[in-house]
Amino acid sequence: MLERKPGSEFPGLVDRFVTYAKVHTTSSENSDTYPSTARQFDLAHILVDELKAIGLADAAVDEHCYVTASLPASKGCEKVPVIAFISHMDTYPEVSGENVVPTFHENYRGGDIELPKNGRRILAAENAYLQECIGETIITADGTTLLGADDKAGIAEIMEALTRIRENPDWVHGPLKVVFTPDEEVGAGVKHFDVAKFGAKVAYTMDGGRRGEIEDETFCADSAIVTFVGRDIHPGYAKDKMIPSVKVAGAFLASLPREGAPETTEGKQGYIHPISIKGNTSETEVTLLIRDFDLDGLKPKAEKIREHAVKACDQWPGATFRLEVKEYYRNMKYDLQKEPRAMDYALEAVKRAGLKPVRGSIRGGTDGSTLSARGLPTPNVFTGEQDFHGYGEWICVKDMELATETILRIIEVWTEKER
Ligand SMILES: [Zn+2]
Repeated sequence: MLERKPGSEFPGLVDRFVTYAKVHTTSSENSDTYPSTARQFDLAHILVDELKAIGLADAAVDEHCYVTASLPASKGCEKVPVIAFISHMDTYPEVSGENVVPTFHENYRGGDIELPKNGRRILAAENAYLQECIGETIITADGTTLLGADDKAGIAEIMEALTRIRENPDWVHGPLKVVFTPDEEVGAGVKHFDVAKFGAKVAYTMDGGRRGEIEDETFCADSAIVTFVGRDIHPGYAKDKMIPSVKVAGAFLASLPREGAPETTEGKQGYIHPISIKGNTSETEVTLLIRDFDLDGLKPKAEKIREHAVKACDQWPGATFRLEVKEYYRNMKYDLQKEPRAMDYALEAVKRAGLKPVRGSIRGGTDGSTLSARGLPTPNVFTGEQDFHGYGEWICVKDMELATETILRIIEVWTEKER
């Protein structure tokens, strides 16, 4: 077992993070290639070299830009199931990730944090969690880019944990694997990832926020397409004949209540969200997102959409509609329930790292939910990343250390319970 006290030092952690943050790995929504941007290979190659230097001899990057490596079990621990740690290399496409300058704010005293450029500030009033970081070192960007702690903090923490294990041959552990993926921010992080070939029993994405939190829930997601059918005719001769489907769709949208929408919900509440409308006089198509943490919560929302569509058509006699509901993804809790050790051991590991474990839920889907659905249970573990996808992204160094400690403890718990 790991003969260590929580809170040990991780000397290479911050340097690794700074190195990765400086590599431009922005992904793109408008690309026909995979990965969506070739520059993600720049970081992939650095990581392969580093993994080999640490001693993970089989480290490699494939044509899809997946970096994989494994660390065989210590003697006597071969029976322990293979567990894997996953982080993504790309950063969010809507905010620049080029020429990132990680900026250190040591001994944070509270209050707003001023970024060196563009007059940007991180407001304490909008970041309650800053209160938890008083006296600590905070890293931000310089005001011209995002920071990319999402998810380069996760990569640095995994690399640092592996380094500590390799430097201490007395620490016994089961078989371990790592994966660094491209294109997570454009929803394609595991598109070409072969779960069966990879061969892990459980995985952990290192891509969560506040210290101690492990997320095992995502939304259940469907989309609904409502097509309103009207009747087109030359507008000069349309009296008592034309049925303008655009107006029927307009009435439908106007009738949707403000409550139960993304702009009025939070926490465990679901929503209905119209995202696009296109059409003409004969046919107008409205696309809506349906989200709920409970599978049973989806159907009533689809029914509500139907009711509003019926009412809109009632206002234009002759108008009709078609409703099509498509399944998108499901709350990963249903898949994680089949392998309770994935969460149980991670929560135990957080405790051993000296933290209070918090179960969290994600108001979205993740690569972890896709992997869980494909048979690889994958909860999401905190990394410390805060306010990601913006110029005000920040991370507290203490949280990065605690996340690294948590990785080591997850490995420890699996080894102890399963060897
Ligand atoms: Zn992320």
